[in-house]
Amino acid sequence: MSASAPITQDVHTIPRKLPDGPINLVGLTRARMREVLIEHGTPEKQAKMRVGQIWQWIYQWGVRDFEAMTNLAKAYRVQLAQTFVIELPQVVTRQVSEDGTRKYLVRIAGGHEVEIVYIPEEGRGTLCVSSQVGCTLTCSFCHTGTQKLVRNLTAAEIIGQVMVARDDLEEWPEIGAPKDETRLLSNIVLMGMGEPLYNFENVRDAMKIAMDPEGIQLSRRRITLSTSGVVPEIARTAQEIGCQLAVSFHATTDEVRDKLVPINKKWNIEALLDALRSYPKVSNSERITFEYVMLNGVNDSDEDARRLVRLIEGIPAKINLIPFNEWPGAPYKRSSNNRIRAFADIIYKAGYASPIRTPRGEDIMAACGQLKSATERARKSRKEINAEAGLT
Ligand code: SAH
Ligand code: SF4
Repeated sequence: MSASAPITQDVHTIPRKLPDGPINLVGLTRARMREVLIEHGTPEKQAKMRVGQIWQWIYQWGVRDFEAMTNLAKAYRVQLAQTFVIELPQVVTRQVSEDGTRKYLVRIAGGHEVEIVYIPEEGRGTLCVSSQVGCTLTCSFCHTGTQKLVRNLTAAEIIGQVMVARDDLEEWPEIGAPKDETRLLSNIVLMGMGEPLYNFENVRDAMKIAMDPEGIQLSRRRITLSTSGVVPEIARTAQEIGCQLAVSFHATTDEVRDKLVPINKKWNIEALLDALRSYPKVSNSERITFEYVMLNGVNDSDEDARRLVRLIEGIPAKINLIPFNEWPGAPYKRSSNNRIRAFADIIYKAGYASPIRTPRGEDIMAACGQLKSATERARKSRKEINAEAGLT
């Protein structure tokens, strides 16, 4: 490929392994793991049991070395180690904010990089996971949206982010220890880089592992997927994942939403609300979170608040107000605290919870919408410079 070749957006063809390299067992569904074990010599009759055993070692106990899988015969462990690996994204940098928020930059196959953010809270902690390198969408207030999509993450790279964070938090239980109920990493939000519903299968497979009772063991109520509004995939999310849903709503008229969240031109507010109405029932989840970024003078009037209340009528909802997080060159300003409080008040009085999200990790550019990897940018501009100079 020449240096000036377009960045690939063909997102479903990423191989799970290098042509002749070992196969990574991380991120495979149980069914797929069974198939690859059989393909590489595990007797068919034993395969299901072996999947269960290996699965628990990998996801429940955090083991990376086949040698440590002591309930498997020694010869079998050697055989596994010859064909398979247990591989996670590689941590490049780790930053810790004044408020305890941690941001990791990890490297994945192809030299790409994505960011993961861990937000500690009282008695719990939330991991903000990325689903794509960059994003194909171009929401005008979002830093990630200014970065071109390079590719979708594989299921291994998505669940691998959770495993990397558990490594850093030293949160793998002692082998054989009883289930520990208090977790440093107790919640996952798919609110990092990328649009998760444009990478549906990989996100689904990774979240299945996160929810598996023999896997990472998080309840589906502790996993929230945030979408900008990919309407055709919302029903599927309810049926095939069943996690909590958050929607980047951000505006109360199509005119404004078209500008802020351009996917609105494809599926407008009405189409989005229609899809949301059936979500709680089908997924058996409670409320939908409406995310609403507060942009000074753009979407933050009392009239907007009242219109929002009218629009969402009948949908079990919570409205999460997000003070806009600025980034270099951003075309918006954050609404004042008084404005945000007045807006919240109208929604609250209409009977909806309207928490104002406290920005976390701003000093390390880890807050919502600030993620974008500097190295990715640097590499891109070097590429562009080379292309311009005719160096291919
Ligand atoms: N692509 C998905 C998930 C990632 S964005 C989505 O758009 O929903 C996670 C949340 O952060 C979204 O609600 C997004 O709209 C919001 N966000 C993006 N940029 C922001 C910024 N600069 N300040 C505050 N919130 C922002
Ligand atoms: Fe993509 Fe979400 Fe950012 Fe929009 S807000 S550009 S969908 S990451």
